[in-house]
This record gives sequence, structure tokens and C-alpha cells, in this order.
Amino acid sequence: MNIPPQLVELKARLHEIYDLEMAAALLNWDQTTYMPPGGATARGRQLATLGRIAHEKRTDAQIGRLLDALRPYEETLPPDSPDAALIRVARRDYERATRIPAAFTAELYQHMAASYDVWSRARPANDIAAVLPYLERTLDLSRRFAEFFPGYDHIADPLIDMADDGMRAATIRQVFAGLRQGLLPLVEQVTAQPPVDDSCLRQFFPEAQQLAFGVEVITALGYDFTRGRQDKTLHPFMTKFSLNDVRITTRFDEYDLGSALFSTIHEAGHAMYEQGIALEFEGTPLASGTSAGMHESQSRLWENIVGRSLPFWEHFYPRLQATFPDQLGNVSLETFYRAINKVQRSLIRTEADEVTYNLHVILRFDLELALLEGTLAVRDLPEAWHERYRSDLGVTPPDYRDGVLQDVHWYGGLIGGAFQGYTLGNIMSAQLFEAALRDHPDIPQQIGRGQFGTLREWMREHVYRHGRALDADDILRRATGRSLDVQPYLAYLWRKYGEIYGIAHTPFHQVVA
Ligand code: ZN
Repeated sequence: MNIPPQLVELKARLHEIYDLEMAAALLNWDQTTYMPPGGATARGRQLATLGRIAHEKRTDAQIGRLLDALRPYEETLPPDSPDAALIRVARRDYERATRIPAAFTAELYQHMAASYDVWSRARPANDIAAVLPYLERTLDLSRRFAEFFPGYDHIADPLIDMADDGMRAATIRQVFAGLRQGLLPLVEQVTAQPPVDDSCLRQFFPEAQQLAFGVEVITALGYDFTRGRQDKTLHPFMTKFSLNDVRITTRFDEYDLGSALFSTIHEAGHAMYEQGIALEFEGTPLASGTSAGMHESQSRLWENIVGRSLPFWEHFYPRLQATFPDQLGNVSLETFYRAINKVQRSLIRTEADEVTYNLHVILRFDLELALLEGTLAVRDLPEAWHERYRSDLGVTPPDYRDGVLQDVHWYGGLIGGAFQGYTLGNIMSAQLFEAALRDHPDIPQQIGRGQFGTLREWMREHVYRHGRALDADDILRRATGRSLDVQPYLAYLWRKYGEIYGIAHTPFHQVVA
């Protein structure tokens, strides 16, 4: 069949939007890496201008007309064809963008800027009273945002959908409840053991050698430096300007070996996902990871399941020792492996280990739902936060700075949909890894030899290349045979940490009744 002219025009318009978004990404990247402080004001204006033009183009009624005109053509296409996926995703984006009135968006951005500003001063000052009125308004705006998408089952659904397409509050709540039930006894048993000594990581490790070792590791994993680069920043992230220019950023702490290394692997995991998207999607809305959760599944897979595994360090530890002979020459592999997998009850999500991390996320998700439902008032949030830290993590925040003020999410964005992706990603990472192992049982032995191609190509085939053409649930069902399932992740955590901490192996299915 001939390609209809409407599809040609649609693609041209989408490509323009893509170019504007990539140009904004480049300005953003520059702002957080190399821009001198004097550039800030003009840069803010330039980003606002690009954002406004992109928004006008995204909501242009002509896109709606083209999408309507393409319906008959769409019905002739196999649902799996790239054009069918493109029209489907473009329609979803268009409907989403046009439901939100421009006046609301302007009000939201203005409030977000003010709220972020107040939070950035209130956090160091531990001034909870300063942020509460802003949080009230954020909650109000979040509810109003959800109301632009009537017909939801739970008021958080439209907010969750923005980050994790197709995921629902009810499903996530159920999955997270099962995870929490399986994690609490593991944390209980692990933290009852003598604490692990991780002082070997807290020596002086010069930045230049850390950088070189990190580059060696992510090159071996498959991050393509001919289509990417790595620079320094304050808060590490991954960004892209096209599928052939996917960049990562890193921050170094010369007294914490794990900090830059694992964050570099994490960001490289995000980047390998983007670098692995089918190049035929370039310039279209399909040229992106499919959801926050799926994206995080790849950063977490490479950072934790691979990068904190024993086989990985059987290969890399002699190299790390050769890089830092004075610091690590006399530290055994076992001591190092236990140090990078130390579990402890803690206050700060971003510093938490694999076992406790999800408890930090689940409690935030539950609090978001309670706020949106109206069963928790904003003024009661700080105390509710402390309560959940006591019950789930066994620690009491000494102040608000390391309590409800610690994450930027609710102060620079909406309430709802902000956190679930992190834990969805962890769950998916184990589910996908288990499926890859079914196809290639010798992946751990390959990792032990420093070979990552089989695992990476499996991920490329089943996850990366699809971009947004498949949503997370489609990918999981096709790649693993079922929808989101917490069991592989719980099994992975119990097996790994049971071994490290010498806990009599408790089959997790007895724990998760
Ligand atoms: Zn990430």
C-alpha cells in the first residue's frame, strides 16, 4: 500500500518536535556540566522559549486532524508494524498534551519554580513549616491534573501513567505489598547479623584513576563511546541528543570508591538502553525508553544484578587492585564483595542498599496515594513519614532534613507517580534477568570472564530495540512469559543476601504467604 501523505506530514511534524526536544536536552546538559554561572539567566529563557515552541507544535490541531485522517490506514496495518506503533504513540502523546490547558501548565510551572526555590533553602535549614503551604498547593495541582483525565480507577492513575504507561495504582499497590512482606523479614534477619566492615571503600581513591577504571568497566559492558561521552556533574544523569549521541554524567567522591563507580554503571545502563533502540525510530516519539520502570530496570540490572555480583568482581577485582594497589592490595575479594553489598537500616533513599532501598520507595508511594486520596493531610505528612521509617526501616529521622525534605520530587514536581518507577525497575530487572538466564544459563560464567555480550544482546533483542513501540507490560509478557511478577526479585535478594550474611536459607515463598 502507498504511504498516505498524512503520514508523511505527521512524521515531518513529529521530527520537528523531536529536534526541539533534543536541542533543549543539549542546553540542559550544558547547563549542568560546562556552563559558567553567568549563563544561567539567558539559559533559563532559552529553555523556556524552546519549551513553548515545542508545546505549541505538540498541541497543534493539525496533528489531531492528521491522526484522525490516518485511522483507516492504521486499521490496515499489522499492530506490530512500526507505523502502527508510531501512530498509536503519537495519538497517546497528542491526547495527553491537549487535555492539559495552557493556563494550567503556566500556573504549574510557576508554582514548581517557587516551590523548588523554597525547598532548596528550607532543607538545609530543616524548616518544615516553610514548605507545607507549597506542598498543599502542589497536592491541589496534582489532583487538578488528574481531573483532566476523567475515567480513572484511582486518582493517582493519570499521574502514574505519565511516567509508567499503562501501570495502575491498584496493581502497583498489590505488587508492592507482596514485596514489602517479603523484604521486612529479610531486613530483620540481615541486620541481626554482625555489621559488615566496609572501611576498605572509604580510603583515598584519586579521581583520575576512578574515572579510568569506570571507563574500562562500562566499555566492557557495552556502552558505546563512539555514540556517547561521559562528563562530570553535580547530580549524575543520562541524556541524549539523538540515538547516536547518548551521554552520561558522573560525580566523584575521592573518599568513597563505590559512589562514582556504581553511579557510572547505573547511568551506562540507562544509556545502553537508549543506544540499543532501533535506529529506524530516530526522530520519532518511538525513539525513547518505554517507561520510567523499564528504564530503571536496565540501570539496576547493570548496576546491581551484574555490577554487584561475585562473578563480575572475580573478573574485575584483580584489575581494581592493580589500579589501587596501596588501598586494596591487601583486601580480599570476599571482604570487598561484602563491603559493596553492605546492608543497613538507614534514613536516606539514595544511599540505601539493594535490600532496604525498596522499603524507602514503597513508603513514599503509599504516602502519595494517601495524600491524593485525602486520607492523609499534608500537615500530618511529616509525622506519617517518621512513623513509616520507624515501622519499616527501624530508624527514626532526627530531623526533617533527612526525613520528608530529603527528596526533590514533591518539591519540583507533582505528587503521584514520582517514585514507583524505581522499585518497578528493580522488580523488572530480576524478572528479565531470570528470563535471560533461562535462554543462556551460562551468563554468570560469561560475566566471570568479563564477557557481557550475550546478556546485552538479549536485552537489546527483548527490550531495547522496541523503544516505545511496546509498553512495559508487552515487553515483560513477550520476554518473560508473564506480567510484572515480584517473585524473581525476592528470590534473587533472599538467595544473594542469605549467602552473604549466612542466613539459613529461608525459601521466600514461605515468607510471602
Ligand atoms: Zn536511574
